[in-house]
Amino acid sequence: MVNCIFCKIIDGEIPSSKIYEDDNVYAFLDIGPVKKGHSLVIPKGHYPTLDDIPEDKLKDVIIATKKVANAVRLATGCDGYNIVQNNYPASGQVVHHLHFHIIPRNDHDGLPAWPAGKYSEGEMDKMLEKVKSKL
Ligand code: AMP
Ligand code: ZN
Repeated sequence: MVNCIFCKIIDGEIPSSKIYEDDNVYAFLDIGPVKKGHSLVIPKGHYPTLDDIPEDKLKDVIIATKKVANAVRLATGCDGYNIVQNNYPASGQVVHHLHFHIIPRNDHDGLPAWPAGKYSEGEMDKMLEKVKSKL
């Protein structure tokens, strides 16, 4: 068995502020919220990243994410929200059990925007072909 904090939350070994649960999915408040109401939606099975979860299980998680995000939006009165999903440590993933973050946002709430980069001449087309070849 993997030693996983989110598996322990699902099993009730570690307490959580549970928002929603069904046969395949569990959702709870993030303990260290970027913004109040920040929530997490996880599959009940232990899949470390998006690469690992089968599509039928993923479907359940994303449908529950939509449901919980709507509840977070109505409860917080936010103007918008981010769905964030980190994969592998390079992305900032700390807990290696797949999870979708729901982060409520408000106009001018001070969180930094993504920095926009640039392609050099021809570079974007090369990248396009490279990515399409891996589908
Ligand atoms: P990530 O960096 O994408 O792996 O995000 C992990 C998230 O899990 C962070 O936002 C943490 O605040 C959150 N987290 C870690 N432990 C707990 C816990 N016991 N209860 C609720 N959220 C947690
Ligand atoms: Zn786990």
